[in-house]
Amino acid sequence: MTKRVVLIGHPVAHSLSGAMQQAAFDDQGVDATYELWDRPPIGLPDAVTELRGDDFLGANVTIPHKERMVPLVDRLTEEAHATGAVNTITKEGKRLVGHNTDVPGFRLALDKLVGKQKMPRTAVVLGAGGGARAVVFGLITEGFQRIIVFNRHLHRAEAMVKHFSRTAAHMELRAMPWHESIIESELAKSKVLVNSTSIGLTDDATPIPAEIIPPELLVLDLIYKRTTFLRDAEAAGCTVSDGELMLLHQGAAAFTLWTGKPAPLELMQRKLQEAREGGLRSAEGEPAGDAAGAGATNGTGTTDGSAASGESTGDSATGEPTGAATPD
Ligand code: NDP
Repeated sequence: MTKRVVLIGHPVAHSLSGAMQQAAFDDQGVDATYELWDRPPIGLPDAVTELRGDDFLGANVTIPHKERMVPLVDRLTEEAHATGAVNTITKEGKRLVGHNTDVPGFRLALDKLVGKQKMPRTAVVLGAGGGARAVVFGLITEGFQRIIVFNRHLHRAEAMVKHFSRTAAHMELRAMPWHESIIESELAKSKVLVNSTSIGLTDDATPIPAEIIPPELLVLDLIYKRTTFLRDAEAAGCTVSDGELMLLHQGAAAFTLWTGKPAPLELMQRKLQEAREGGLRSAEGEPAGDAAGAGATNGTGTTDGSAASGESTGDSATGEPTGAATPD
């Protein structure tokens, strides 16, 4: 029987996961299809019931459902429990297990962005959704000492900070109201800036004005395209990277969880890039990808080997140092 894996989100048409996962199944001889399920929050319990059927290997979960999925599965892995967010589901018979592969994906993307520099200790995080939870947990476990979270709805950022209160007991983790002057003053005290809002996913909107971005920050946008936010940060002189590497590695980890096989990373990365170059369309009809946006670059717009890509040759898909010409 052909097995099924589904991506549950709302919207999901912007997703590039299908391109890399289907290619990986085919390459590894896994008889499975990867389907996109656009389900509003009210449709989530029914989707979960359907997943228990024998034909399903598991699922991915994306915006805006990662936190809502937590009480709907039967068991959580340590990372899903720690973050309070599920992005991957596997099966144990009819039981559903919630995982969070965004955490290792984010840590890999962060390591690559930081490159050979010493790991910074201070960060500003924009957003407090499921993706932000993986970011904050990844930063805490990387040894960050000060993390300030801004979110449109402050209560959601406060709930996230409360969720991490025990994990972050040794350091400063705070939620602050979304005021540009406060963000500006916190950015001046920070080394890393992560956009984990979905602002810019389907249009050219940007979470913060270009004028308040100081130079020399390490800036990561979880969105896997070259957003206005990244362009502004790069123009300000920051080292920037989009969400491609995180997407690739969370997907690779999910593939292995579903199939028990190592993920064909290079193939998956190539398929992701082809999908971006093909101008995959989002739900709103906006191009979801931009091939030129891949990889970490510095303020000159060139690939920054010192900070992100490394200088020696290697396999960019593994997150190891790679040649400067390899987009990652
Ligand atoms: P959620 O729906 O859980 O959270 C969305 C976040 O964006 C919230 O903080 C929300 O704020 C904020 N937001 C949305 N619209 C606006 C707006 N108009 N103004 C201000 N804030 C807004 O989504 P996720 O956390 O799952 O995903 C967030 C983004 O990260 C997406 O673009 C997703 O594609 C990307 N992502 C990428 C990954 C990768 O592998 N590269 C992995 C995970 C996520 P509020 O709470 O106030 O509504």
